[in-house]
Amino acid sequence: MTLPKAVAFAHWMIAQNIRPGDTVIDATCGNGGDTVFLAEAVSPAGHVHAFDIQSEAIQATYARLKKESLEPHVTLHHCSHDYAVSVLTEAERTSVRAAVFNLGYLPGSDKQIVTSASSTTAAVLSYLHTFPPGVPVIVVIYHGHPGGNAERTAVENLAAELSEQEVRVLRYSLEFQEKAPPYVLTFEKTGEESPHLSN
Ligand code: SAM
Repeated sequence: MTLPKAVAFAHWMIAQNIRPGDTVIDATCGNGGDTVFLAEAVSPAGHVHAFDIQSEAIQATYARLKKESLEPHVTLHHCSHDYAVSVLTEAERTSVRAAVFNLGYLPGSDKQIVTSASSTTAAVLSYLHTFPPGVPVIVVIYHGHPGGNAERTAVENLAAELSEQEVRVLRYSLEFQEKAPPYVLTFEKTGEESPHLSN
């Protein structure tokens, strides 16, 4: 057995949860690695909604999808992931089966443009509030870059504040590594009465 790294573990978790025909969210499409993985998993009948604030990322993802003839199965949204809930239709919101965030900067691009604590936590909370119980909201957390630690702390604080009756949180982390490797927090709404999330 080889313990998977964070992204491979996130993909494994997603694969357990989705099938062809599902609707899924890629909250940070970047260079399109996750988007292609998701599009392959839900096509031909399903759909991926992918978000990024950088036009460079949207273009890179489109090019990658086109190469694989997967672009009909994806809508690329050039906006922040905390707008996801408002750009989906009611039917799409109820059919979402997984959401994934890959935090940090766009590899090979401007390292100053990174995901932020405020939009990441706002997006995670809105997804938990809106999507059906049992939908994993998977966050791959990078914390080695400037700002990464603050974002990681904010996501962990959110996890700690949520009631365990409403939301379960799974951490997957390779420990005792020399560098600070990325790790995964998966949030899952339980479906129990949720005063926090229903606000
Ligand atoms: N998932 C990507 C892949 O497989 O190639 C990698 C994502 S990269 C680590 C992080 C991306 O998040 C960057 O492309 C960055 O532009 C994007 N980003 C930063 N803030 C964002 C926001 N508020 N909403 C959506 N995307 C954002």
